[in-house]
Amino acid sequence: MNAALCVLASSSGGNCSALMVDGADGPGVILLDAGLSPRRTRTLLHQAGLGELPIHAMILTHLDADHWNVGWLQARPDATRLFMHRRHRGRATREGILHRPSELFEEAFSPLPGVVVSPLLCSHDELGVAAFRITLEGGATLGYATDVGRPSDELASHLSGVDVLALESNYCPVMQQASGRPAYLVRRIMGGGGHLSNQQAAELAFRIAPRGHIVLLHLSRQCNTPDAARAAFDGCPLPLSISRHDTPTDHIPLVTSGEPARLPVVRPAARAMSQATLWG
Ligand SMILES: [Zn+2]
Repeated sequence: MNAALCVLASSSGGNCSALMVDGADGPGVILLDAGLSPRRTRTLLHQAGLGELPIHAMILTHLDADHWNVGWLQARPDATRLFMHRRHRGRATREGILHRPSELFEEAFSPLPGVVVSPLLCSHDELGVAAFRITLEGGATLGYATDVGRPSDELASHLSGVDVLALESNYCPVMQQASGRPAYLVRRIMGGGGHLSNQQAAELAFRIAPRGHIVLLHLSRQCNTPDAARAAFDGCPLPLSISRHDTPTDHIPLVTSGEPARLPVVRPAARAMSQATLWG
C-alpha cells in the first residue's frame, strides 16, 4: 500500500496530521487528531496537495481542544468515521461528541482495509492519551505519540523500530522555567503528566530506534524553537522533519526500510549527561 504522512499543523494552537493511504477503498486521508477548524484543515489539505481526497477517518489521541476542534461536531462528513479511546467516552458524552456515530477503541483496530492501529494509553492529565503504532499492508509502520507525559519503557517498546516516528518535542526546559508561566502550569507540563521536553523526546526516540524518518510534533511556540529541538537530536543519523504551527510538512513516505535499524552506540556515562551523544 502506498502511504505517506503529512503533518498539516502542530502546536498548542491545534494539531492535525494527514496519513495518505491508497488502498482497496481508493486514495484517501486518515486524520490523526482533528484539532484545527474544519475550514483551516481544508485549507491546509489543499496547500499540501491533498484537498481532493476524501477523509476516510479521524483518529483522536485525546479530546483536548488542540486535538479535537468542536467545529467538527457539525462539519464531519457522514462517510468519515471517528475513532477515540474508550477511556474518553465519558468526556465525549458530556461534550456532545457521541450524538453522532463514533467508534471507541481499546485494542488494535482497523479504520480501513490494510491499516491496523494499535493504541497504547499513556499518562496525560486525568484521562490519558492514546499513542499509536500503525501498520500498513506491506509492513510499513508509523509511530505517532503526542502529549505523552513521560518517556516510558512501555511506550518505547510499543513503538520499537517503526519506519517513521512522529513524536512530540514540546519544550526546552530552560525556556520553560524562564517563561514566566504560573508555577502550576509549568508543573503540569514538566511533571510527567503533560509533555515531553526536547531531551526526553530525543532519549525516547533513541530507545525506539526508528528506521527511516523522525518527525517532531507539538513544539511550544513560547517555550521552544526548531533550533533547540534540532539540537537535542544532534548526531541522529535519520532525516528529521520539524512540524510547524502554520504550514504543512513535506510528504514523508511510509515505506519499509530495507536496512535493519542502525544499532545505537550506548555510552552509559555520556547518556545521562548529554543527549547530543546519544547516537554516538
Ligand atoms: Zn496537545
